[in-house]
Amino acid sequence: AERTDKKAYEEAQKRLKIAEDDQRNMLPELRKRSRWEYLKKREAEKLEDLEAEIIDEEYLFATDELTEREKRDLEYKRTLRDLAKDYKKAGAKEQEERKNRYYMPEEKRRKVPQRDLELEETPMELGGEQGRWEEERLKTASLSFGAKKEREQGMRQEQEKYQLILEEDEMIDFVSTAITMKGTRTEKDTPALSQAELKKQSMQEVRRSLPIFPYREDLLAAIHEHQILVIEGETGSGKTTQIPQYLLEDGYTKGGMKIGCTQPRRVAAMSVAARVAEEMSVKLGNEVGYSIRFEDCTSERTVLKYMTDGMLLREFLTEPDLASYSVIIIDEAHERTLHTDILFGLIKDIARFRSDLKVLVASATLDTERFSCFFDDAPVFRIPGRRFPVDIYYTKNKIYCYKEQVLIMHPSSCCTFVLQEEIEACCELLQERCRRLGSKIAELLVLPIYANLPSDMQAKIFNPTPPGARKVVVATNIAETSLTIDGIIYVIDPGFCKQKSYNARTGMESLIVTPCSRASANQRAGRAGRVAAGKCFRLYTAWAFKHEMEETTVPEIQRTNLGNVVLLLKSLGINDLIHFDFMDPPPHETLVLALEQLYALGALNHLGELTKLGRRMAELPVDPMLSKMILASEQYKCSEEVLTIAAMLSVNNSIFYRPKDKVVHADNARMNFVVPGGDHLVLLNVYTQWVESGYSTQWCYENFIQFRSMRRARDVRDQLEGLMDRIEVEVVSSQGDNIPIRKAVTAGYFYHTARLSKGGYKTVKHQQTVYVHPNSSLFEEQPRWLIYHELVFTTKEFMRQVIEIESGWLLEVAPHYYKSKE
Ligand code: ADP
Ligand code: MG
Repeated sequence: AERTDKKAYEEAQKRLKIAEDDQRNMLPELRKRSRWEYLKKREAEKLEDLEAEIIDEEYLFATDELTEREKRDLEYKRTLRDLAKDYKKAGAKEQEERKNRYYMPEEKRRKVPQRDLELEETPMELGGEQGRWEEERLKTASLSFGAKKEREQGMRQEQEKYQLILEEDEMIDFVSTAITMKGTRTEKDTPALSQAELKKQSMQEVRRSLPIFPYREDLLAAIHEHQILVIEGETGSGKTTQIPQYLLEDGYTKGGMKIGCTQPRRVAAMSVAARVAEEMSVKLGNEVGYSIRFEDCTSERTVLKYMTDGMLLREFLTEPDLASYSVIIIDEAHERTLHTDILFGLIKDIARFRSDLKVLVASATLDTERFSCFFDDAPVFRIPGRRFPVDIYYTKNKIYCYKEQVLIMHPSSCCTFVLQEEIEACCELLQERCRRLGSKIAELLVLPIYANLPSDMQAKIFNPTPPGARKVVVATNIAETSLTIDGIIYVIDPGFCKQKSYNARTGMESLIVTPCSRASANQRAGRAGRVAAGKCFRLYTAWAFKHEMEETTVPEIQRTNLGNVVLLLKSLGINDLIHFDFMDPPPHETLVLALEQLYALGALNHLGELTKLGRRMAELPVDPMLSKMILASEQYKCSEEVLTIAAMLSVNNSIFYRPKDKVVHADNARMNFVVPGGDHLVLLNVYTQWVESGYSTQWCYENFIQFRSMRRARDVRDQLEGLMDRIEVEVVSSQGDNIPIRKAVTAGYFYHTARLSKGGYKTVKHQQTVYVHPNSSLFEEQPRWLIYHELVFTTKEFMRQVIEIESGWLLEVAPHYYKSKE
């Protein structure tokens, strides 16, 4: 027996030698990156080999001949084998039984009051029966408006109420189209709770009063029964704050397993985590935490983790099977952000072999059928909403200058949707008017809410309004579905949103102000009517609603640069992007262009494989171009400065403060920071001086610099600097020489080169006409060659943050890209 053992041992040694190469080269890599890619291969062709390897190694293990590392690898292989087996089994099972769609259990259906069921059958969104009905009504309404005396009367009264604060020429004629968004409650049968009453309720009572609460047990049962569940419920029903808590109470975090919940927006992740921590009476960052880019507020103890969808995506890099999670909730799925869409594909994939992983896809009442289809007919769990009806008004005439119009004040709390850069101005104007009117009107709290608002300010919108006072929430579309603000009766909707748009031919990405979609408009309207019957004033005509607005918003994946996600997917070992399981695939050209750009940046080789540089680039949580710029700073020995520039660019456009009454002062202050070479260097200058002031608030105030933005830039910079070690870049300074800095910028952004020619600037690649933004330090300089950080389309195609370069550098930093051109 000994001899046979010996022989087997020798055999095993030989095989181990062969396997070792594979192991040394691939395993550590695979452990980190593409476990399931590997798995699939193993599952298909190598499961037997794997078995054999394991048997061999187990023998060595038993005879204690394995090193510590080999033991770990063995352990790893065992896991792989088990997973592969599960994967195989799951595949077979999947064939066998296509899961039935889940509906609310019969019994519950009967218990649901009649009015809830009504909503279920006629959801508020357009489309289907309801949509056709509304469209019909719209048609008749816009033809016959004015015919209804009563309605006119009502409107007049309505208008008199805000006569007080609006000048004659500011009045807007509104038309009621007799369209009411159906509610499930009326004033009569469900008295509205006042803010004061709400306040009296304890936190637990509030929890129990949420629409989701009666379905707690059913929901948990459904989750228990199905691996993937789509959950549909109106904004405010308690999906985001309650479901993770229910799961926790039900034991899903036993053994330190985590429940992850993704949010498309940073603010939402932070605010919701804070709320849940409060409801659970724990300190934020302990059991409940959040993780957003450049800010990690979690600890070893964290079991409920709210995070942006982008952060979960990055977690795949370190934990490809999300092994530490028992549940993943992809929340706000209807937003269809780029990262959420990519998560869909990845999570659907890992769910196949991680049969213990529960996946919940939560969405407002939109598109849930599609989610269900995508996730192999996953059942849909509907939470019936509760809402008071909302009357919808349109303007009689087209409104061109929409900004001014959002300033109407109303005798009750309202929410208005504007673009982020208008928020400050809008709030200032409102406050100024209030001051002018003094005691003639009830106290008015003007509360802004937008993505980068500091959390103490955010908290304010959730505070109950003092008796007798009203609040105006001036929000970006963040308040559409991500955050629920109570007590809103009126909604003012200018009907615009800012959207990224991408030209796959030229590779130009720009932010464009466009009409929002009808689905968005309806979500906005839905914000009224949570506590009582509400009204929504749309600052556009009914005709525009019907003819000029898109039905739904195009998923981001179809209108954005994919460089970032392609790089990420490549580093996850997913090479075949064409066949990636996209819910809506991106345009083919966009994908190809992303690959091309990554190739030009040196992140991919000519076979489309990740290079060492690419791997390092993927380590940084920023766009590939910015990443490349940072990595290039190593070669040009100016990483100190480039890190600062990168940080300042990422808090872009909110550095300089320009109050209306001190425009001249502010502009002078800004001029003082100008240095030759371009805006990047100006930003660097601002930061350096701020550091010299000892990060002073006073200094910011005196120089019309926004302290908040600077503080954020500092955080971002610290984070990036912390990552330099990992990508092996030494932090050194160029000692005042700005040429290396500009070269590093060029190395990252050579795609964004523009050249002065007759009649202005043209992009080098596509000869597109572009303009230097009037805010730029180079506005009057007109250098021959420059590089822009981003393009923004407002009245023209503007380049924002530009830097002067020399054309010779282009060849130096991107020879394979520019050789053919020159
Ligand atoms: P959903 O995700 O279904 O839209 P949420 O779970 O976000 O609903 O909200 C449920 C309730 O919790 C709402 O009534 C909302 O007002 C309240 N809520 C959410 N976040 C906060 C917060 N930060 N402060 C106070 N209340 C909050
Ligand atoms: Mg939510």
